[in-house]
Amino acid sequence: MRRHHPWVFSGAIGSVEPAFTEAGWAEAVTESGAFIAYGWYDEKSHIILRLISWDRKQSPGDDMVRSLVRGAVERRKSFFSLPDTTAFRLIHGEADFIPGLAVDAYGRELRAIVSSRFADKNLGVIAEELDALLHPDVIEAVTDKQFAGLEGLAERIRHFRGGKETREDESRSSVRFIERGIWYEAAPGKGQKSGFYCDQRDSRSIAEEYAAGRTVLDLFSYTGGFTLHLLRGGALSVDAVDSSESALRHLLYQIHLNEDKKVLPPGSREKVTITAANAFEHIRQAEEGKYDMMILDPPKLAKTKSSLGNAMKAYKDLNRVAMMKIRNGGIIATFSCSGAMTREDFRMMLAWAAADAGAEIQILRTLSAGEDHPVRLSFPESEYLKGYIIRVIR
Ligand code: SAH
Repeated sequence: MRRHHPWVFSGAIGSVEPAFTEAGWAEAVTESGAFIAYGWYDEKSHIILRLISWDRKQSPGDDMVRSLVRGAVERRKSFFSLPDTTAFRLIHGEADFIPGLAVDAYGRELRAIVSSRFADKNLGVIAEELDALLHPDVIEAVTDKQFAGLEGLAERIRHFRGGKETREDESRSSVRFIERGIWYEAAPGKGQKSGFYCDQRDSRSIAEEYAAGRTVLDLFSYTGGFTLHLLRGGALSVDAVDSSESALRHLLYQIHLNEDKKVLPPGSREKVTITAANAFEHIRQAEEGKYDMMILDPPKLAKTKSSLGNAMKAYKDLNRVAMMKIRNGGIIATFSCSGAMTREDFRMMLAWAAADAGAEIQILRTLSAGEDHPVRLSFPESEYLKGYIIRVIR
């Protein structure tokens, strides 16, 4: 608590005075009564106390929330004037001192992902402040389904216009946005086509630099974040694999969109094959030596610290098989977005995989989320996305 980690679990709390039954602002003090921090207390949350401010002079409440939102948006100032990118993160949860809330901008729309009771309860004030600062067309807030159960939150979608909550019809049209000059389209709601992972922006650009003349396997391709960049970078072909058929269909649509916008040359679509499959199985069937570049961007395999052991095995297996199948000297962009896995764990996993694959590995680039997803030093979990560009030598 003193080192500004924001999570306090019930076992760390001696007593709650006066007895609190509802959720609300609280002051954390030592046994002798010395001030530690202000936070949000909620018995129904899996993190009973979320510390927010260590500054005694600030008073907790709506104004504090407004100023936290303002601070996060002001820190993104440089993103608003980027000529070729209109999708980026405005609020990155605890790393921006707002627990359990992510807010992304997609052009003139904002998308909030709510993963804490704190964010859910304070969403009205947050939306009001975002509206006052940015005047978006709409703010759409969805409950993060991974946390709905843990936090006792209903899975729902809320909308705010002009800072006020509205009832929305389902007929809203899709929103188009660009990332480093490439066009994407997201649909409203929470389906496979609705989301976008803007945390991989820098890594996609870096992968593009390596793509020229390569035969690429894009595993866990989703709607083609990497595939589109690889095509622009001059890849000979890209095989995109994902378990979601609708994501793959959307990938093809986004290739057409970029051909229409003249971002990709005509004929780009013919370079791509899509396969709906379990990527862990699919890579075992891959022809040895066919690919000289691979993207491995699996979903979060370690959801909590306790599942880290099994997740490490799955990551290792995936990377080991990739190292065995890739052409000698080929390039792999490999990632983990598990907050429970440290960068050291990730490196160790790669070392095990390499030993079993009988390969030497050179790390060419160290990858992480973009600076709109800052890592807060006092909250190591915020370094959730880790990656490397490696060269495989056998
Ligand atoms: N690289 C993507 C993001 C990947 S997100 C981008 O840049 O946009 C992870 C993806 O893995 C999701 O699309 C999900 O559908 C897919 N997925 C999850 N489990 C899978 C499995 N076992 N096999 C293949 N795809 C899987």
